[in-house]
Amino acid sequence: MKADFRSDTVTQPTAAMRQAMSQAPVGDDVYGDDPTVNRLEAMAAEMLGFDAALFTSSGTQANLLALMSHCERGDEYICGQDAHNYRFEGGGAAVLGSIQPQPLLNQADGTIALGDIEAAIKPDDVHYARTRLLSLENTIGGKVLPMDYLAEAQALAFNRGLKIHLDGARLVNAAVALNKPMAEIAGHFDSVSLCLSKGLCAPVGSLLLGDDRLIHKARRWRKMLGGGMRQAGILAAAGIIALESQWQRLTEDHDNAALLGRELSMIEGFEVNTASIQTNMVFARVAEHIDIKRIAAELASQGFIISPSKNLRLVTHNDISRDAVLAFVAALKSAL
Ligand SMILES: *Cc1c(COP(=O)(O)O)cnc(C)c1O
Repeated sequence: MKADFRSDTVTQPTAAMRQAMSQAPVGDDVYGDDPTVNRLEAMAAEMLGFDAALFTSSGTQANLLALMSHCERGDEYICGQDAHNYRFEGGGAAVLGSIQPQPLLNQADGTIALGDIEAAIKPDDVHYARTRLLSLENTIGGKVLPMDYLAEAQALAFNRGLKIHLDGARLVNAAVALNKPMAEIAGHFDSVSLCLSKGLCAPVGSLLLGDDRLIHKARRWRKMLGGGMRQAGILAAAGIIALESQWQRLTEDHDNAALLGRELSMIEGFEVNTASIQTNMVFARVAEHIDIKRIAAELASQGFIISPSKNLRLVTHNDISRDAVLAFVAALKSAL
């Protein structure tokens, strides 16, 4: 038995994806000629309720394009201290966009307190960067933002003249967990980024969604950043399958994460808040006396891969079955 719990980015493309990729009609997408890319973009825009969509090489690129299209040089965006587009994207907004981040504390449920956002919006004064955008993330650390919070954040942004962006790398997990269409979540935002290459199993690619004006700007920045791809329909073909028929099975990943969390919580030395497992991520605090590096090496020799840490993160996905979860738990117990 093999299972890689490091991330849902390790998922292999499905057989249907490889089949579709081998037969996809393609053209030069920089000329707008790739029918498969065009189909993916139109389909995503329709599904999420936006004018337009843009196929990007990665989620990082989609977020960067959103920031650079909403903001100008000397503007700032408000985001969570734990936000991917603050912590894990190389400072791209600052490096490439001359855009300043204003990170704020994330609460335990992943939200940013509305009062904190209000207080961080800068007055119109030459001393300050211009606050232009509020950026939220959903899911964040596997947690789903409450729907009423989204409505409140949207109203705050509107009333204060800010645009509002969603890093929805795992928006589909949030939608599946809430049993709501993605459009219902996406409808609270001016732009949304979405990863096809995580739990949805596509090998490469993300999407940025927004109105025509925003996507037009983003397309220009994408070309400048070297993201204008040619016969990209080969990749988009897998993305179409991801959006059509991969999201339905994410409930299985969520069920497997809940199972894994329950099992782990019963092992001495692993502290798990099972109530906080809402999607496909399990977090465990590992006791001091456990040598997690040694355990990880022993598990790896049996085909189970984890990123060793005292704050362990385990992610379930398409290539981890229920049986694999149970086999992993048994292997962990014997390694201990
Ligand atoms: C993975 C991820 C991204 C970036 O996606 P890449 O395709 O890895 O660049 C952005 N935001 C969040 C929340 C993510 O989990």
